[in-house]
Amino acid sequence: MQRISARQCTLGGSVRFDGFGVHSAIPVTLNINPAPAGTGFQISRIMEDGRVVGPVPMEFSRVTRTTLCTTMDLGDSVSVATVEHVLSALSGLGIDNADIVLNGPECPILDGSAYPFVEAIMAQGLQVQAATRNYIKILRTVTVRNNDSFAALEPYNGRSLDLEIDFDSKIIGRQRMIFEWTPRRFVEDVSAARTFGFMKDAKVLRQAGYALGSSKENSIALDADKMLNATPLRFEDEFVRHKLLDAVGDLALSGMPIYGRFRSYKGGHALNALVLASLFANEANFEVVSADDLPLAFDSLDDLPEGLEVKSYLRSVG
Ligand SMILES: [Zn+2]
Repeated sequence: MQRISARQCTLGGSVRFDGFGVHSAIPVTLNINPAPAGTGFQISRIMEDGRVVGPVPMEFSRVTRTTLCTTMDLGDSVSVATVEHVLSALSGLGIDNADIVLNGPECPILDGSAYPFVEAIMAQGLQVQAATRNYIKILRTVTVRNNDSFAALEPYNGRSLDLEIDFDSKIIGRQRMIFEWTPRRFVEDVSAARTFGFMKDAKVLRQAGYALGSSKENSIALDADKMLNATPLRFEDEFVRHKLLDAVGDLALSGMPIYGRFRSYKGGHALNALVLASLFANEANFEVVSADDLPLAFDSLDDLPEGLEVKSYLRSVG
């Protein structure tokens, strides 16, 4: 009998989010719809004149900019910014197929984490599909560097992220997180970690057209060594957890889940996109493997946390 965890998965129903972009401040409505097996993550944008650009597959080869967020090209000179948090929610929950439709140039920031996406998707439940899931199995270590920072993908029996940051700020400092992925651990330990920024950078960023929508409602605001938000951190090491959330989202641009380990030191969107490009630049670095041929006890959908509507997938599995 085929394991549930070896099957592809989509949303149990559509979910809708109304918000604005953290960089553009432009209001946007974003819908995530279920999609057939084999679709992967696809995105389309409805323009002001009603024209629809897309859907196109959300893949690393479409990444055009990685300054402060990950921006994707949809063709026809149309782009979508800040795709990483919604992708993180989908990938982190173990979803393979989803159709994203939005009507603005940037995904909504919501509370600055992936949790609002996770919560809404969980309320709809997940739907297991007939097709077997495939993984990109890392066969050779691939490393990309920029000064003293790096990102690497390496062979590993499982799905793991090992991420370290080092900021010259007492409230952040050096933080490391080693994360063995399961949907439950993603929801509980990663999904609610918020983005952050320093006030000293805010003026320059805004002059450059970034962070126009950022506020203490959607970001942890930092002034050298202290936090300016009135509410406390959600985790003592919320900063490294958010960087891990970003990495999960950026790595989802591989087109299918990765079987292996991601390691990063002082990394970010640029290195995350580069390490994928470097991986796929040589076919000897990876192979596509059926979940039936991998020991996948670690990603059983049974692992999903309480509050998730599991009936829909149980029913579809039969
Ligand atoms: Zn982020």
